[in-house]
Amino acid sequence: MKKINICGIPFDNVTMSEAITLAENELQKKGASVVVTPNAEIAEMCVEDESIHQTIVSAEMILPDGAGIITAAEILGTPLKEKVAGVEFGMELIRHAEKHGYSLFFLGGKPSVAESAAEKLKVCYKNLKIAGTHDGYFTKTGAENDAVIEEINASNADILFVCLGAPTQEIWSMKNRERLTSVRLIACLGGSLDIYAGTAKRAPKIFIKLRLEWFYRLLREPKRLGRMMKIPKYLRYVKKAAKRKE
Ligand code: UDP
Repeated sequence: MKKINICGIPFDNVTMSEAITLAENELQKKGASVVVTPNAEIAEMCVEDESIHQTIVSAEMILPDGAGIITAAEILGTPLKEKVAGVEFGMELIRHAEKHGYSLFFLGGKPSVAESAAEKLKVCYKNLKIAGTHDGYFTKTGAENDAVIEEINASNADILFVCLGAPTQEIWSMKNRERLTSVRLIACLGGSLDIYAGTAKRAPKIFIKLRLEWFYRLLREPKRLGRMMKIPKYLRYVKKAAKRKE
């Protein structure tokens, strides 16, 4: 399956079901592969910071999360098949894990969010194996981090959800992937555990359809405004890149 380069980030040009096929391929390999789901904010962080860019592009799977990336691909004349939002990819991965007997570890969110997500999911997915959970508020280096790694290894999980917010989760995953003994797939999924736990809500479908999910999030969390200014900045950058291509 082809990758499409959007201003230096090689996105997987896949549908959701193809994304799951790619994830299954990664699960068959030795070592922990990493899935990232950059949106336009993260893509702009990559433009501004080469070390974040290097972290993102070293992931085995790069899925386009957000209308901003889909718009960027259209501006560049290389449209992507569809948006593969992290939160939806996470849900599909949960269904896939239940069907194939893979166990999951949830890392991230405020205390009790990961447990609550696990409990809620087990109501709908009776055979889902949750190997363990841990909140995301620990020191990401040193002894505290070592203890988290040990806990994940002791759980023998196959799939690890890392939900620490971007770019912390991607940096953490790349730094620690080689220390994970059982995990074969790490999915960096931002605020997804909050959605599964019900502590945060996704935008209504009409906002998503109109590519206005960012606006809904802004209404609910006005403090995101500073971060969100990265979206128009990124699109201006992409338009300039498209002009240079002409
Ligand atoms: N978070 C965490 N540890 C931290 C900082 C944040 O677990 O040190 C969690 C936070 O509780 C939230 C998620 O990371 O659940 C970030 O969600 P957001 O929707 O902001 O993700 P982003 O858009 O940054 O990917």
